[in-house]
Amino acid sequence: MDVLPLIIFLSIVLIFLLWKVYIHLKTTPKGDMEEEHKKFLREHVSFYNALNNHKKKEFEFRVRQFILAYEFVGNETEVEVQDQLLIAASAIIPIFSFKDWKYNSLKEIHVFPDNFNRSFHINQEDSNIRGLIGYGYLQGKLLISRTALYQGFEKHDDKRNTCLHEFIHLIDMEDGKVDGIPERLLAHKYAIPWMYIMKKEVVRIHNNYSDIHPYATTNAAEFLAVVSEYFFERPKDFKREHPRLFNVLNEIFKPDAAVYNQKGIEKENP
Ligand SMILES: [Zn+2]
Repeated sequence: MDVLPLIIFLSIVLIFLLWKVYIHLKTTPKGDMEEEHKKFLREHVSFYNALNNHKKKEFEFRVRQFILAYEFVGNETEVEVQDQLLIAASAIIPIFSFKDWKYNSLKEIHVFPDNFNRSFHINQEDSNIRGLIGYGYLQGKLLISRTALYQGFEKHDDKRNTCLHEFIHLIDMEDGKVDGIPERLLAHKYAIPWMYIMKKEVVRIHNNYSDIHPYATTNAAEFLAVVSEYFFERPKDFKREHPRLFNVLNEIFKPDAAVYNQKGIEKENP
């Protein structure tokens, strides 16, 4: 009997398993998060502050796991650990209730020092892109401006968070289409009511009857991303102003109940 094919097959299986173990070890954080990094999260991420101690530990672990799992590239800048912490927080906040979630379509995160233009240059007249998800040759890349990244966590009254917005697009993309219906998270029976509520709200925005940013009316994908920013930034206001939209987003993201009591950031060294 020719055992060579069997040996080749078993070798391939062994290499595959060793590779999986290697990736698992490489992306599993060891020990606790550094105190300085926890302090940084306390000072910038109100979602984190709202969690109980047990959940805070889980958030810290998943932030570190995210940082180990993806490649960070600086464009005309060095990526700082604080950039990584805020980007990872933006990634984990919307899917915190889904322990095994992976951003399968993401490979690299590119950090720009400021907003950039279509040729990826900063400081130009048309440098107004705050963040984007790459298509075509940029497939698998998330591009983010550091200015926008920090603004997203520092200004809570504007209901905007660019980096979180881009991760909502990635969540939407996980089912193969960026169409404003995140099928992996939204049960099929809610899809039609969701489209209906969305269309009604777009009319209200057009008629100036809504406090949702008009960029939401660009298309269904932008609608989902913009209302999700508002939902995570100002959950109480969003629930009061948009109870039906709130119910659908609550169904999609199922956030930790404590998150509704976000009070904002606590500066420790004013
Ligand atoms: Zn968008």
